[in-house]
Amino acid sequence: MSLIVQKYGGTSVGSPERIAHVADKVIQARAQGHDVVVVVSAMSGETDRLLKLAREIDPRPSERELDVLLSTGEQVTIALLSIALEKRGCPARSYTGAQVCIRTDSAHTKARIMDIDAARIFQDLKAGRVVVVAGFQGVDEHGNITTLGRGGSDTTAVALAAALKADECQIYTDVDGVYTTDPRIEPKARRLERITFEEMLEMASLGAKVLQIRSVEFAGKYNVPLRVLSSFTEGPGTLITSEEPSMEQALISGVTANRDEAKLTVTGVPDQPGIAHRILGPIAAANIEVDMIVQNVGEHGLTDFTFTVHRNDYDKALDIVKQTAKEMGAREVQGDNRIVKVSIVGVGMRSHAGIASQMFQTLAAEGINIRMISTSEIKISVVVDEKYLELAVRALHNAFKLDQAAQR
Ligand code: ADP
Ligand code: ASP
Ligand code: MG
Repeated sequence: MSLIVQKYGGTSVGSPERIAHVADKVIQARAQGHDVVVVVSAMSGETDRLLKLAREIDPRPSERELDVLLSTGEQVTIALLSIALEKRGCPARSYTGAQVCIRTDSAHTKARIMDIDAARIFQDLKAGRVVVVAGFQGVDEHGNITTLGRGGSDTTAVALAAALKADECQIYTDVDGVYTTDPRIEPKARRLERITFEEMLEMASLGAKVLQIRSVEFAGKYNVPLRVLSSFTEGPGTLITSEEPSMEQALISGVTANRDEAKLTVTGVPDQPGIAHRILGPIAAANIEVDMIVQNVGEHGLTDFTFTVHRNDYDKALDIVKQTAKEMGAREVQGDNRIVKVSIVGVGMRSHAGIASQMFQTLAAEGINIRMISTSEIKISVVVDEKYLELAVRALHNAFKLDQAAQR
């Protein structure tokens, strides 16, 4: 008998009818001879609703209390799904994260899973029950409720699959797999049969929110077979897998866009050793993560320094940089929070030159100005004005022929 962990996202449990449908799917998996552990998200829109409530009382609520509040969304759906399963004669038990000892660190609103005690779950499975676990939440060593960051139910599912040594972790969502780009932006996007952990991690990090980044990290680290499927339609979905030496690769697997960044530039900075540290030191001290960094070639002893941060940190970063610029005697600080990062990802890039120039040429042909560039072995990212997001994604998708199956 095999063990499967299934995760159903917000839209998949968005109404009593949808929950009934999920119960049928779980029962179907049991009928095929699998033990099933189910992880559910809150009903779609619920986490945002709770967040808004808290912010109406305090725009910057205590993160500990925010976790207590946000974790309630998932407590509703675990109970509703268990009720639906039992109504159909399928024994089931629901558990919060704390009840199945999903131990995390104490970083409220972005906690990391440290450990899971699988004993209780195994007991229930042995007794013939379906175990329904609340996604997105855990408990720290002091008994405080924590949450795992937006989209964190994916990570709960993969971590459980790793701890239980499940045969497969199935992520059921509102698309039938991982696509070459977000199908909401490019309708010609194509479902991928399989994608490597490495590429999926890069796509998730660069804006493809179909899987939370940490869930892919976990799956890669513990070699959890991971599949993304639709809860609405039947089909094989997309398998996320280790790279096999024989697996021939397309040059590019996907295009991503990330709207979460903002750009800051300090102009007329004295071109001396230690500039990067002077500017970014106070940013790091304020716990703000920096993504891309560009320092221009100096001229007449002065240079320009540009970096990007998460949009949520933009105002805070701008205040800090203005202060630093004043102290350094820099000319001025320019900020722009209406930018996006568009990237192409593919392990096939490693062995092929000329991909970058094809990307830049494609954007130029559309009249899209590139503001920053960063590259790694398997991705190229550019920062462009927000208004070009859709155009850039579609142009690149078309230029690299991603709507067609990989050329071998
Ligand atoms: P859930 O609530 O089930 O966790 P999410 O909204 O978090 O669902 O993730 C699914 C969404 O991810 C899709 O509706 C799709 O718009 C978006 N998405 C972004 N990039 C991709 C991609 N490359 N492939 C598939 N879906 C993507
Ligand atoms: N409910 C949480 C969110 O909306 C977690 C999840 O859906 O994965 O981010
Ligand atoms: Mg999600």
